[in-house]
Amino acid sequence: MPVERYEGIRLGATPEEIEEEVERGVLLSTLDRAIGWARKQSMWPATFGLACCAIEMMATGAGRYDLSRWGMELFRASPRQADLMIVSGRVSQKMAPVLRRIYDQMPEPKWVISMGVCASAGGMFTNYAVVQGVDTIVPVDVYVPGCPPRPEMLMHGILTLQKKVRTEEPFK
Ligand code: SF4
Repeated sequence: MPVERYEGIRLGATPEEIEEEVERGVLLSTLDRAIGWARKQSMWPATFGLACCAIEMMATGAGRYDLSRWGMELFRASPRQADLMIVSGRVSQKMAPVLRRIYDQMPEPKWVISMGVCASAGGMFTNYAVVQGVDTIVPVDVYVPGCPPRPEMLMHGILTLQKKVRTEEPFK
């Protein structure tokens, strides 16, 4: 008699192994995967550029690089309709509370990409007027290095974030 195989369950396993499979939660892991897939495929970035890095971000959204391949072409003018903040450029001390307010206005779940060395660590602006790392203001999920990062690097950062979103567990 042929042995049937179901995805995630290996028939012919020992009772302990089957119990382990069931404990991992066949139904929940499938639902997790579906939610992660839906979230990663429908990320809408906030329209938010701070300095020269923003030009590269705009190029990433334009025709040549075409962010819409990943369902992300809809840069939203309202933070209430966005779930991704791309911090593209240096953050001045004056801008920091505004950036935080925009982040707070975005609905959960939300993610942040720090684009460029200025946003991530202050870059060449090692002075009192510029925030030395945007992760002191908002939680950052992915750091994109470079000055400025090319559109390919931002796209790599976005794909890295999508991988993270796809594999995270939404109910934890
Ligand atoms: S990392 Fe370079 S390109 Fe980006 S904001 Fe700083 S100086 Fe401008």
